[in-house]
Amino acid sequence: MNNRKENLLKVKDQIADAAVRAGRNPDDITLLAVSKVFGIEDIREVYNLGQRDFGESRAQELRDKAPQMPDDVIWHFIGPLQTNKIKYVIPNANLIHAVDSVKLARAIAEFGSSKEISPSILVEINTSQEEQKHGFSPDETIDKVLEIMEISGITVKGLMTMAPFTDHVFEIRESFSTLKKLHDRILQQKHNSNFNILSMGMSGDFEIAIEEGSTLVRIGTAIFGKRKRPA
Ligand SMILES: *Cc1c(COP(=O)(O)O)cnc(C)c1O
Repeated sequence: MNNRKENLLKVKDQIADAAVRAGRNPDDITLLAVSKVFGIEDIREVYNLGQRDFGESRAQELRDKAPQMPDDVIWHFIGPLQTNKIKYVIPNANLIHAVDSVKLARAIAEFGSSKEISPSILVEINTSQEEQKHGFSPDETIDKVLEIMEISGITVKGLMTMAPFTDHVFEIRESFSTLKKLHDRILQQKHNSNFNILSMGMSGDFEIAIEEGSTLVRIGTAIFGKRKRPA
């Protein structure tokens, strides 16, 4: 059996320790509990422990779960998003993490304005340049993010990445530090006080991510336990 209370406390301790190691304030790091695949009872259990930020990676799953939870849950959509599913996500998600094309950003802005909602988004960067991963390459990131920032009707709150699937800590760290550097360079080019989120770090690598500047870690397994099916 999973002890979610213990899991959550342990993750919070690890976040705080990693922050202190990096000379950072633990309060500057948001813990996002990734609840994909888990049911409402599981989510409610973690909610009752005080957790408020939850993340889903499938549009219909978010649409189905969000109305079943209290209004003060902050929902994040962290999966790849197809334009035809924007309608399921926008009314429910406070933040859309994985915007990987200008076209998708425009479609989100357009749908949002039709509902009088101004969605907040992150731009996904393929920092490890693995072919199977989504997101802009580091080389095109600055131009594309500046272009997306010009779209009215959305707020670009920062960047998101996934580290490579590897045991090589060096490569994982490199991927996170690449995201941090890109974020800094964009801010040098265009001052933007909304642009302050770095969504990086999962159960296996969040401490490294925090050491490299993450402001939001997306953690599923270390809180909920192993998922019974792939997300
Ligand atoms: C599933 C998922 C996570 C959480 O992964 P864990 O390894 O279970 O912590 C984080 N980010 C994204 C984008 C995911 O799809």
